[in-house]
Amino acid sequence: MAVTKRTSSNVLLDTALKNFYSAAEEMGLEEGLVEILSRAERKLCVSIPVTMDDGTVKVFDGYRVQYSTALGPAKGGLRFHPDVTMEECEALAGLMAWKCSLAGIPYGGGKGGVACNPLELSPAEKERITRTFAARIEPLVGAWTDVPAPDVNTGGQEMVWLMDTISKMRGRLEPAIFTGKPISLWGSKGRTQATGRGVATCVRELLKAAGKDVKGSSAIVQGFGNVGTYCALTLVEMGAKVVAISDITGGYYCPDGLDIQKAFEYVTNHPKHLLDGYAQPGLQKMAGEDILYLAADVLCPCALEGAINGKNGAKIQAKFIVEGANGPITPEGDAALPKDILVVPDFLANSGGVVGSYFEWVQDLGGFFWSEEEYNQKLLTLMADNFWRVWNYAKEHKVTMRRAAFLVAIKRVADAVKMRGVFL
Ligand code: GLU
Repeated sequence: MAVTKRTSSNVLLDTALKNFYSAAEEMGLEEGLVEILSRAERKLCVSIPVTMDDGTVKVFDGYRVQYSTALGPAKGGLRFHPDVTMEECEALAGLMAWKCSLAGIPYGGGKGGVACNPLELSPAEKERITRTFAARIEPLVGAWTDVPAPDVNTGGQEMVWLMDTISKMRGRLEPAIFTGKPISLWGSKGRTQATGRGVATCVRELLKAAGKDVKGSSAIVQGFGNVGTYCALTLVEMGAKVVAISDITGGYYCPDGLDIQKAFEYVTNHPKHLLDGYAQPGLQKMAGEDILYLAADVLCPCALEGAINGKNGAKIQAKFIVEGANGPITPEGDAALPKDILVVPDFLANSGGVVGSYFEWVQDLGGFFWSEEEYNQKLLTLMADNFWRVWNYAKEHKVTMRRAAFLVAIKRVADAVKMRGVFL
């Protein structure tokens, strides 16, 4: 009996499924496992009624998907974005399952979010949405069942509202249910910077593997949110020159290298945390998308999915791409890229975030906290090890790093499912 392949009208989910089926076929995964691993274990859809500041009531849609819990509790972020759908959450939850597996940490994969536009919400409205969402997903979350974290447009404040709501509902403090919390409230030193640092570490190891030095290299960083900011700051710390950055307000290009520290301070003080109005000598403003086509050693797409696609892939000039965002290159984009470009896939490159979350969860469960040095050292060692594991597998089996990462990741989850067995 042949496997009936699932498809989706959602591009991200359809891509995730296609990638999964083709990797499963290549590794000769047995049919039952293909059927199990091509579906999310559990999907929850909730309505979130909220009284807005003007007194009207609005209802938002929220989601939480647990793709797999074979290796441990479901793990993955919660995003606030107008485009959030169940299909997108399922695709991203699957990506988290492979990401955690590849990183060698004891988690399955999950993802969730609320379809809303945070730029149009007051802080009080955001708090009400977050707390009501927490109450609605309460039956699913727990330190040993499902551990959410920040994602697009969510951060420490949202994690505290979530933790506080669940703790009040259960009548006891529940710090280990959410990661990405502020240091003062059971968060961990180093977690905020972890994803960006991890991306920069992959850049460094990749250049090393190609016989180059990160020092003196040039980089483009698309997206100046949590991932892009700390990726750019770390690259500068490593001696690289960041020549272009961007956010929804446009692209900022300086051939001699941007003052990333200054840009970071600028967005920190900007009311909406944007680069709008940022200036420094030699800076050229351009359309956000256009920075993707500049010449540089490395391009780090750290914004949203689909930035590099069939339409613009051929225009990329950078020699290496390290995917900071989740799914920034579509399969058509991959096919359109000039053939000599090397790509480090998202679920390897940006796994520093969830590895950092794992460290935070471990500290919360033990109630004993590490120094930032200890955290960073463990993070960098793990990230570099994971990079080389995928690099060596790709070389040995003559496949792309994306394919290598998929094969290694799927195998670990499949082995866990097989060993645990199908419930009677
Ligand atoms: N949202 C991040 C990701 O996509 C972090 C998830 C986590 O820490 O659980 O990897």
